[in-house]
Amino acid sequence: MEYATLPNGLKMPLEGFGVFQIPDLKECEDSVYAAIKNGYRLIDTASAYANEEAVGAAVKRAIEDGICTRDELFVTTKLWIQDYPDAERAFSLSLEKLGMDYVDLYLLHQPIGDYYAAWRSLEEIYRSGKAKAIGVCNFYPERITDLCLHVDIKPMVNQVECHPFFQQSEALKAAEEFGYTLEAWGPLAEGSHGIFTHSVLTAIGEKHGKTAAQVALRFNVQRGIVVIPKSVHEERIEENLDIWDFELTDEDMEAVEALDLGHSEIIDHNDPATAKFLSSFSIHD
Ligand code: NAP
Repeated sequence: MEYATLPNGLKMPLEGFGVFQIPDLKECEDSVYAAIKNGYRLIDTASAYANEEAVGAAVKRAIEDGICTRDELFVTTKLWIQDYPDAERAFSLSLEKLGMDYVDLYLLHQPIGDYYAAWRSLEEIYRSGKAKAIGVCNFYPERITDLCLHVDIKPMVNQVECHPFFQQSEALKAAEEFGYTLEAWGPLAEGSHGIFTHSVLTAIGEKHGKTAAQVALRFNVQRGIVVIPKSVHEERIEENLDIWDFELTDEDMEAVEALDLGHSEIIDHNDPATAKFLSSFSIHD
């Protein structure tokens, strides 16, 4: 495992485990436990995923079984738009569900709504020590540039969709300019574009004795981007972490770079309909 260093010196593993779309709490707990047992140390959840308690239960079980200690883990959760006006209360609820007294990273989930007010709350939470780092998700270059220019504490992480078919080169440049780390959600493109059997990724993988999925993940970590693949299957959980014993050549990297479409086919944050849909999505009464 290699690490990114956040602007405050905190080490963030370059690979972690995501739990979006695992609504079954038992399945989520078992998947997170399997991930930790197999060596993952970063877990990415969100209040909007409705599975923070399952993540907390898996972490508790892994610690009790002597697999790791809490301080070896890097736990991320996120604040949903609906809770932007009362972030401190939502954060307390997340901690309660996780059964933790701090998280390693707390993120604003969307660049929608009163995110300036929410960001100021995250700054306070960070100052309290209950979040070791703070950041945002889905802030594209123009919006994060604006945020970085007008806040006391700049985001330390920006989590955006990023994979071989949407490579986020502009977001990477902005990350370098403002010093935050880019984190890739959907690093396997949520299975779209035939990624697992894609001819270019498969051919590169064959040279290294790796799968197309492993090439896709390796492509991002070699760009310094954190990846958080999700799977509920233990053999895939293992496969996705087995990317630390090979290196893509410059030629391999160029071949993957040529796959970039430059836009998302999962969600378009530039589309007004996306702002309307996400704003109407409630995670509680
Ligand atoms: P992803 O990790 O790109 O893809 C997950 C899909 O790929 C699942 O259908 C999984 O199926 C399948 N899969 C995983 N490994 C595989 C392998 N080796 N071979 C074949 N199939 C494989 O998508 P994601 O879950 O959307 O993104 C990852 C994480 O990013 C999320 O879990 C979440 O933590 C975070 N995220 C954040 C945001 C945000 O707005 N901040 C948005 C989306 C996601 P099985 O589970 O059946 O194996």
